[in-house]
Amino acid sequence: MDTEKLVTLLREGKRILVFTGAGISTGSGIPDFRGPEGVWKKRQPVYYHDFMRSEAARIEHWDYKLEGWPAFRDARPNATHHAVVRLERAGKLLALVTQNIDGLHGRAGTSNEKLIELHGTNTLVECQTCGKLSDPHPHFEFFQRTHHPPLCDCGGFLKPATISFGQNLRNEDLERAQQAAAQADLVLALGSTLSVYPAANIPLLAANRGASYVIINRGPTEHDDLPEVTLRLEGDVLEIFPPAADKALQSSGS
Ligand SMILES: [Zn+2]
Repeated sequence: MDTEKLVTLLREGKRILVFTGAGISTGSGIPDFRGPEGVWKKRQPVYYHDFMRSEAARIEHWDYKLEGWPAFRDARPNATHHAVVRLERAGKLLALVTQNIDGLHGRAGTSNEKLIELHGTNTLVECQTCGKLSDPHPHFEFFQRTHHPPLCDCGGFLKPATISFGQNLRNEDLERAQQAAAQADLVLALGSTLSVYPAANIPLLAANRGASYVIINRGPTEHDDLPEVTLRLEGDVLEIFPPAADKALQSSGS
């Protein structure tokens, strides 16, 4: 059985790198932006350089973020997020690299030292001038009331702390992810189509070095045909991964 192989790999893994995508958060009520009902079918994304140059673009971006805010605010972690926390508590998690901006890994209890949110997070707002981070709630209330994009005390533009189209990933995050990929003995890609780069390079870096590479996703991924893939499980991560992690942790006495 393929799930037995997953249990064995999880049991034997000592430095596990977990890489997650949108497919693990649909069970928490977070829409998949790139799916058939994705938001980009309805709206044009605001590019970073437009956000910085145009008041109309800032209004459009805040309006789009406001539309999604109730779903993000009310989302709760599911069994997949909690299973990754249990791997960490058992001392087996090297790092958790996520493409998700919903903040659910942190909310589930994954520690900041392990968590790398490559595409940023909706749970904070960031000043584009001084870098100060703050709670989104008052800024959304301000925007909803006034329809003016909020400003920092320093006068800088405030933006939800996600990586926008046309904006580079943070170097520090990429370097931490690459370091983890250089040390992992097992890499799991969960709920990602592995089609967004450079994020999707991270699991591949580990696999190229000889780490076992497991992909669990509903629907095809761009890495399915690569020889580096040790195990490919098709289906809902929520149904496959948490029970396998529990079984592996029980049987390893953790
Ligand atoms: Zn500022």
